[in-house]
This record gives sequence, C-alpha cells and structure tokens, in this order.
Amino acid sequence: MSNKYEIEMLSLDTNADAIIIRYFDDNDDEYIVLIDAGKTEAHGEKAVNQIKQYSNSKKIHLAICTHSDKDHIGGFKYVIDNMGIDEFWIHNPQICSSTSKLHSIQESLKDNKNIRDMLDRNGVQFKHVREGLQHSVIPIKILFPDDDFYCLKLQDFRDYETLTEIFLEHINESSDPNTEEKFNKLRDLSAENATSAICYFYPNSQKYLFTGDATPESLEKTIKKYNNETKDLDWLQVPHHGSKNNITTSIMDYFKPKIAYISANKNISEFLVNYLINRGTDVYSTEDGNKLHRCGTDSRVGYSTATKILVFSL
Ligand SMILES: [Zn+2]
Repeated sequence: MSNKYEIEMLSLDTNADAIIIRYFDDNDDEYIVLIDAGKTEAHGEKAVNQIKQYSNSKKIHLAICTHSDKDHIGGFKYVIDNMGIDEFWIHNPQICSSTSKLHSIQESLKDNKNIRDMLDRNGVQFKHVREGLQHSVIPIKILFPDDDFYCLKLQDFRDYETLTEIFLEHINESSDPNTEEKFNKLRDLSAENATSAICYFYPNSQKYLFTGDATPESLEKTIKKYNNETKDLDWLQVPHHGSKNNITTSIMDYFKPKIAYISANKNISEFLVNYLINRGTDVYSTEDGNKLHRCGTDSRVGYSTATKILVFSL
C-alpha cells in the first residue's frame, strides 16, 4: 500500500472542521478526501481554493460530512456548487424506520436535507455514512456509528424549542476542570454529536483517527468494537475542538496518540492538552494557522515547521 499522503487541517476563524487528505496510490494517482467543510460558505470556499492551489486534482474523490451541526456542514453548499465530487458520505435520516419524530426535529436536520437535495440535483452519488463503509481505493473507513445507534439518537435530536436552550447552556458552561476526577465526570450529552461519523484512515498500516464531535459514549463504543484500530494511534483529531466534555483520560490512555491535532481557536481544554503532552503526545492546534502533516509529499512554499503546544495555558 502506498505511503505517500498528506493531511491539512484548515485554520478557520471559529471552532469548525475542514480537513483535506491527499492520498497517492501505488501508481502515484492522487485522491482527495474532504472531511467536513467548516461553518460558512467562506470556509467552504477556503477548502476549495486550498485544493485547487495545492493539488493537481480537479475534483474531490470523497467528501464526508461527520454530522449535521453547522460548524461541520455549513461550508458544503459552496463546495458542491464549485467542485466536482465523486462520492459523498452523509447521514440519511430516512434510513430509520421510526421517522415519526422527524417533523419536530426538522430544524436540526434542515442543513442535512438541503445538502442531500443539492447532491441529488447535482447528480452526486451519496451514501448514508455508517459503520463499515469504506472507499474502494483510499484506505479510509467508518468505524462509527451503526444504524441502530444513529436511529436511536435521532429520537433525541433537538427540536426547535430546545435549540435556544442548548445555546444558553453553552454560555453557562463551567470552567475547565483541574483534576482528573472532575475532568472525567464531564460528558457531552448531545445526541447530534454522539452520531458523529468516526473516520479511520490507515495508509501503510498507520492509524489516523478523525472524530468530528464524537462523545465519550461513542468513542468508548468504537474502542470496544475496533480495539486494534484505535489502540496506540499515530494521529488523533481530538474530538469536538478540544472540548473538556468529549474525551476521558482512559480514552486518551487507550488512544495514546503520537500526534494530536485540535481544530479550534478557543475553548480548548487546558487539562486535556496538558494530559496528552505529559504522556508524550505532540499536540497542535489550528489556532495559529493551517496545519499540514506530510508523508512523502513535497514541501510547500510559505509553510514552515509547525510549532507544537509545549505547556498549554489559556
Ligand atoms: Zn463541531
């Protein structure tokens, strides 16, 4: 299997994900993957421009929307309008048999529906993103969630009234905990985040894990089923922009990543980052610019060696 690829995490002006993978097969043919597209059309534009500038590919071979929160799905409208896409993986709530609640959670699913409608109109092939889905050439597959879990959580997606409530809750969040015990008590209970597609990229037996906004519950289930894939990672995208609510110390101990990347410029948990650093992980964030991870590809003009976070303090 080829060992030439690179990963770029885009620095956006807010906490949001847009990650570009360039993968070269044994014939040196290039493949582009886009995991999430940021929050706004401008973020989508940034992703498209980055691909056009630094890739020979004129299209995206695989786009993945981890879940339908704005900071992950928001930029896809621009991307679909402005670049060819071979294959698109996105949740499709229609696969759940008990769709009786769907009308009351339309607001949560509006962006998801708009994107699926756009894909239909543009003739882009899309697949419901579920555990086990994998690409025919690119070594990438989905480890989580399965359909049962997705459909169960769908029942708890926010309806219009609770959208405001959740927003207020976020404003009143408690501060970063300073002990392991307090840190491990925090749990993100968002049903939307729990359904985040967890993507596993495994070029040349390396282990790269992309987690979207996955929660402790979804990460624990993933570890249980895919213990080999998730142990001693080469790379971890820290879930939910480095939030204190989405990972535990035992999960971090299991992942034991060599490198961890955080797509965020605010609200990164100091406890989380220092915990990883103290156990030998090199931690980077997109706060001070795009972060490019290269393996076998050429260096880029204007890119310098990334600075890792040494001791983290907000
Ligand atoms: Zn997010």
